[in-house]
Amino acid sequence: MSTPCVLAIAGLDPSGGAGILADAEAIRAMGARPLCVPTALTVQTTRAVKRWEPVSAALVSESIHALLLEENVRAIKIGMIGDAKIAEAVAKLIGTRRDLPIIVDPVLQSSSGVLLFKGKLEQARDAYLSLANHALITPNLLEAAALLDLPRQPQDAAGVEAAARALVAKGVRAALVKGGHLPGEPVDALAMGGAAEQFVGTRIPGKVRGTGCRLASALAAGLALERPLRDAVIGARALVREHLLQFGSGNLRPVI
Ligand code: PLP
Repeated sequence: MSTPCVLAIAGLDPSGGAGILADAEAIRAMGARPLCVPTALTVQTTRAVKRWEPVSAALVSESIHALLLEENVRAIKIGMIGDAKIAEAVAKLIGTRRDLPIIVDPVLQSSSGVLLFKGKLEQARDAYLSLANHALITPNLLEAAALLDLPRQPQDAAGVEAAARALVAKGVRAALVKGGHLPGEPVDALAMGGAAEQFVGTRIPGKVRGTGCRLASALAAGLALERPLRDAVIGARALVREHLLQFGSGNLRPVI
């Protein structure tokens, strides 16, 4: 059998810090093969997103359909989805492949303040939540607060775990809420069914883009290679840590 593939459906950041170029790097580093379908083309440098346009939903849909049919897709990673039409087309296609692990990394806005979904925040929230119905969702604290309509983002490890559990209660299959924006040491929390686990990290100084894209893609690659979920989470966290250690102090890439 050919190398297991991860189908990454996300925005193209031509500077390579985030989006499908970062996805492809992470997927390859984990030993799987990336297949990349862009949902949006962004005008972007390592500094900021200037503007972006969605790709047509028909093109996204045809591309995913062809790849699912002819390639050895073993997991799907969804990042920036762009608009409600693309979200609907993608949801329809992935609904035909409930046998595959699916990771949804919700992308609402760039760190430079540009909204990365055409429409209202509520539409973006509904689009990502419905895509994550049968998936593992990987929001950061800001995204988790938006998805859950919280008045403020979680402030400590207990809050991160509560947000992961609340996302599962809202109907997503599993949630890995990333605590990189916590004050002090970062703690991620994984929730599935009635269980939850915290993963405590050590903060690495510096600002690096694309950590969310890379984590979700590495996780998808681990699952494509048939690792258990917990092992895939540990492997993905290790890959992001390596990336932070490599680029963190150079400040070549600003933070997501
Ligand atoms: N562009 C694309 C295609 C992305 O997927 C993302 C975030 O995931 C961004 C831009 C935002 O990156 P930043 O927050 O570093 O501006």
